[in-house]
Amino acid sequence: MTKDQIKENIELVKNKIFEAEKKSGREAGSVRLCAVSKFHPMEDVLAAVDAGQKLFGENRVQEAYSKFNEIYSEDVQKSIQIKPELHIIGSLQSNKVKKACEIASCIQSVDRAEILAEIEKQCAKLDKKMNVFFELHTGEDSKCGFETEDLLLKSAEDCAGGKYPHVCPVGLMTMAPFTDDESLIRASFIKLRNLREKLNAEFPSLAINELSMGMSGDFQIAIEEGSSIVRVGTAIFGERDYSK
Ligand SMILES: *Cc1c(COP(=O)(O)O)cnc(C)c1O
Repeated sequence: MTKDQIKENIELVKNKIFEAEKKSGREAGSVRLCAVSKFHPMEDVLAAVDAGQKLFGENRVQEAYSKFNEIYSEDVQKSIQIKPELHIIGSLQSNKVKKACEIASCIQSVDRAEILAEIEKQCAKLDKKMNVFFELHTGEDSKCGFETEDLLLKSAEDCAGGKYPHVCPVGLMTMAPFTDDESLIRASFIKLRNLREKLNAEFPSLAINELSMGMSGDFQIAIEEGSSIVRVGTAIFGERDYSK
């Protein structure tokens, strides 16, 4: 993708977000776009920043760490004058949590208690509060996320009970199944929205408001079902080269 193509794609995606907001009677600007830059070079991130994009998602910590450390370096910051925000959206191994906490402002892919404990440990050292999303497994294709709602609820209960003072749960995340059957995609998003209601009823002290759902192929459906953050990669940066 050239710089101009990336810019054009962002405009296209933003227009589609705007149309979907309108169609479902939601306020204009209520859905945030997270540009998923995994497998794409720093130059592509900078092209998106130049087009006004502020929030990025990466799923591999090592890659995110090198890319965004450079973006946050004094030299690059001097020239772009803006600090884009990074969310980690991929499943984490415990030994990657330290770097994730150093570089990201939010971890959207919390999928087990062990990861919460590790985020707590690392953020206590960094004297930093970390926003997190609990990821729920709702689609049979992906293996990501808490396997059951009960396991997720237990972690939310621990957060509400003060077990992880440096962790601030702000939302839920999911990936819908990869299918042409729209009803299955919708069911996955509805499941996540219903879980948010349940969490807010059971743990009113936590403010779990965000729903991170919708990717290049299904973000319009996700917005109709209440998404507040869509994670869009391919529609902005093009196909990924997984051989890299
Ligand atoms: C890669 C990825 C995306 C973006 O997917 P596209 O189909 O390229 O838009 C969104 N969410 C997660 C968790 C991902 O890993």
